[in-house]
Amino acid sequence: MPEPDALLVTGNLEPATPPDHSPKQHGGIYPHDVSKSPDVVVVGGGPSGAAAAYWLAEAGHSVALVEKKEYPREKTCGDGLTPRAIFELQEMGFDFDVPELHRINGLRSYGAGTKLEMEWPDHPIYPNWGAIIRRADLDQQVAMLAEKQGAVIYQQTTAMPVIEDGRLTEVELTSNGDTTRLSPRVVVVADGAVSRFGRPLGVGRDRTAPYGLALRAYYASPNADDDMMESLLDLKDKDGKNVPGYGWTFPLGGETVNIGVGLLSTSKRWKGLNTGKLLDTYLDNLPDHWEVDESSRLTEPVGGKLSMAFSGGPIVGSNWVLVGDALGSTNPFTGEGIAYGYQTGRMAAASVHAALAADDLTRLQRYPEALEAEFGDYYRVGKVFVRVIGNPHMMRAFMTVGFKSKPLMEWTFRVMSNLMPPDDRTLTRQIYRAIESAVRLAPAGLGSSN
Ligand SMILES: Cc1cc2nc3c(=O)[nH]c(=O)nc-3n(C[C@H](O)[C@H](O)[C@H](O)COP(=O)(O)OP(=O)(O)OC[C@H]3O[C@@H](n4cnc5c(N)ncnc54)[C@H](O)[C@@H]3O)c2cc1C
Repeated sequence: MPEPDALLVTGNLEPATPPDHSPKQHGGIYPHDVSKSPDVVVVGGGPSGAAAAYWLAEAGHSVALVEKKEYPREKTCGDGLTPRAIFELQEMGFDFDVPELHRINGLRSYGAGTKLEMEWPDHPIYPNWGAIIRRADLDQQVAMLAEKQGAVIYQQTTAMPVIEDGRLTEVELTSNGDTTRLSPRVVVVADGAVSRFGRPLGVGRDRTAPYGLALRAYYASPNADDDMMESLLDLKDKDGKNVPGYGWTFPLGGETVNIGVGLLSTSKRWKGLNTGKLLDTYLDNLPDHWEVDESSRLTEPVGGKLSMAFSGGPIVGSNWVLVGDALGSTNPFTGEGIAYGYQTGRMAAASVHAALAADDLTRLQRYPEALEAEFGDYYRVGKVFVRVIGNPHMMRAFMTVGFKSKPLMEWTFRVMSNLMPPDDRTLTRQIYRAIESAVRLAPAGLGSSN
């Protein structure tokens, strides 16, 4: 078996300077056996894995970040960053002056025949701006930040668990037909919505939980420097019937826009809907200022699943933790997952750090407790919300009432993007109760179809 270092492909991350392949010494504050196995292996180099690797390396642990593809790697996404994502990037020292990043001041939203423009709200913690950046650029740059903190990055390398007597004992790395094994003390599972690494560990989905399907493509537009992201909240099929979901147009700056549709699984009509046809219909009805039609398409539409509201689990094993899409951390209100990948990565890193520092892995159990404290109420509200709007009567009522009042829509925007003031925890519970009451009053019951 080759030594683990033989699989290292770190050179592509920072082409300008010769890479330092040797694992960094952090003063050895929490030294693990130096037999080449790091304290922590992070499986998956998307937002959640790169953030977990960043924060663990920053805390002084030896970390291997394993990514099966090679950076810069594509990820099907709307490429939209909300202020919550910007905040997490700020915390990791991201360089926002990179030319690939296009700043966004707010949301232009269409619904019920009305247009509303809303700037990102002021918030004591989060900035009042967002951004659009291709995932190929974003994810490589965040992985580079983790590498600068000392994480060792294995690209083009697939990780799989080695399980003995029901316990994760090692991580097997395969690259170009070569395999080797690492014996970390803890594994962070950050391998995305399908989580093939997680499956042998018993990771599965709550099949009763709502989920989404989304499809996107890139288009050429002369209006790609627009400083607003745009959404259509009352998405319709070709027969003009409302479907539960939304369409988006996210300008990347320069000449390109990311256009897509997202659909929720909470309507009875869901199975008969085709995201490709919905994207066509959305495109046909796009506002003129984009100057986009089918002939402007630059790439084939590609889609993916949105697993939301912590529908993945178990969240923790005896020596592993689940983060990001593997955990189903996407915001059920919006399908936004990048910020929650970063945040769950950071929160998991804090618990792993505490467990390693105390040499007590039972402390990993604090991670699900922290998730519950941070997101529990909000995600429960979100799950109810997506069931409510799966009912076409409720969806129409929501759109008609909401779009008549800019203050109400601004408040909804704040709630949906999870930018409520931090000192108002009771607010979430009030919303939860209000939506629950609305559900009980729904004329035809949840998820009924028109
Ligand atoms: C069409 C669409 C549009 C979206 N739009 C937005 C948006 O605009 N804004 C937003 O915030 N969110 C959006 N999302 C959600 C967002 O893309 C995800 O929530 C986010 O990528 C989750 O990050 P992650 O790190 O958990 O997983 P991923 O980004 O999926 O990263 C997982 C990584 O693990 C690697 N991997 C998998 N298995 C292994 C293995 N065995 N060994 C090694 N590596 C492995 C993969 O190659 C991948 O790089 C969208 C999703 C879709 C499908």
